[in-house]
Amino acid sequence: MPEALAERAYEPVIGLEIHVQLKTRTKMFCGCKLSFGEEPNTRTCPVCLGHPGTLPVTNAEAVHFALMIGLALECEIAPRSIFHRKNYFYPDLPKGYQVSQYDVPLASRGRLGDVRIHRVHLEEDAAKLVHAGASGRIHSAESSVVDFNRGGTPLVEIVTEPDVRSASQAKEWLELLRSTLRRLEVSDVRMEEGSLRCDANVSIRPAGEATLGTKTELKNMNSFRFLERGVNAEIARQEETLRAGGAISQETLHYDPASGALSPLRSKEEAHDYRYLPEPDLVPLAPTEEMLERARAALPELPAQRAERLERDLGLPPDNAQRLAFRTDLGDFFEATLQAAGDGADARTISNWLTGDLVSLVGDSDPAASKLEPSALARLVGMVAQGAVAPSAAKEVLAILVADGGDPARVVEAKGLGRAGADELTRVVERAMADQADAVEKIRAGNRKAEGAIVGAVMRETKGRADGAEVIRLLRERIGE
Ligand code: ADP
Ligand code: MG
Ligand code: ZN
Repeated sequence: MPEALAERAYEPVIGLEIHVQLKTRTKMFCGCKLSFGEEPNTRTCPVCLGHPGTLPVTNAEAVHFALMIGLALECEIAPRSIFHRKNYFYPDLPKGYQVSQYDVPLASRGRLGDVRIHRVHLEEDAAKLVHAGASGRIHSAESSVVDFNRGGTPLVEIVTEPDVRSASQAKEWLELLRSTLRRLEVSDVRMEEGSLRCDANVSIRPAGEATLGTKTELKNMNSFRFLERGVNAEIARQEETLRAGGAISQETLHYDPASGALSPLRSKEEAHDYRYLPEPDLVPLAPTEEMLERARAALPELPAQRAERLERDLGLPPDNAQRLAFRTDLGDFFEATLQAAGDGADARTISNWLTGDLVSLVGDSDPAASKLEPSALARLVGMVAQGAVAPSAAKEVLAILVADGGDPARVVEAKGLGRAGADELTRVVERAMADQADAVEKIRAGNRKAEGAIVGAVMRETKGRADGAEVIRLLRERIGE
């Protein structure tokens, strides 16, 4: 029996719960502006401070954004849903309850990529507790203070079905979701700043088993890397437990990215009874046909659709299509370059330049904000195709265009980066062979790797103006292959 346990293969099952702060002008139920790092407690009013006798009013823009999200995730929109009070006591919640949705969410039964969406609902964010230790800027050595600026910020909660099967799939899917939400322009979706927050529910089961195992919930991993690492650590912990003959207990875990440790936050036995009650101060959400139409009309082409179009219509490799589609700025620059290149443009090669060299030059920033013009990139790619510039020299030209702008032909001429001609190249190759007789010896003996020494020498000598493939051709010709 222990032997069978040790050898058994397990399948991870993961469901995600995501909180998205909407970037509306004002808070969910009052007129306070949203806060972006203002002085603490400067964006508050009697409503979001929970003073008695105040009345909330639902933010129409938040409803519009939530409808856009629901529709983008291919959900069914509930004709009528209400808000509930979720009761619990905590200093970040001045009313003693959070206004959220309970039995009927605004949207449900959707899909994004290969993951089904269970529900999408609207709620309000809690305030922020600042725990000040000895090094904190707060007077006493051990105290916590509350900043109510965040309290009442509109949140959309998205809950998936348990369709994810690995930590890397969880990370990739969350990237697709983030890209989709960013494209909708409904949120800043910054994990480090908390405008996108993700909890992961994790269980494992013997491969082939239909019923789900007991799950644990990992709270608030604040980066894609930590999400992937945390889920992997939890899968490993559960496997180890089961293999040792133990059982998984349903609990909420906190992942510490520094140590990699998972520690329990609370177990289900002491789980809160939130005593959900219908919120009597708010009218039900009942989107009119007009509201739905307005939300539908506001949907742009979404990243998943764009990736599919780039792959299908332009024949891009799936990886490139996805990377271009997931970053609107890159996708737009790619399409502008393609258009500038005109008829017969090589979309695949242009996509390689965009996702490879250009991204390594501009990083996360918009290439359109650099000095590089799409038409200049189109011409540079054309010059490489015609053999006027070797690929490695073209990379140098690209770096110059990104930093200073201008025309690639001029840059090539001014910097002497034109491709080495046949005569020059033959001369340089022959000299490199003469200088490195031992490498040539190895090549003759059939050692392909040794060719790198000659290619490297030629590249250095020509400052990258040679085409590596051509150098190898000349080299092998001389060796008599
Ligand atoms: P709870 O009642 O604990 O909140 P839910 O049924 O509402 O649980 O599900 C919460 C999240 O957990 C969802 O994303 C769901 O897909 C996921 N989930 C549910 N059961 C499992 C399981 N056995 N393994 C992994 N994820 C699960
Ligand atoms: Mg739940
Ligand atoms: Zn307010």
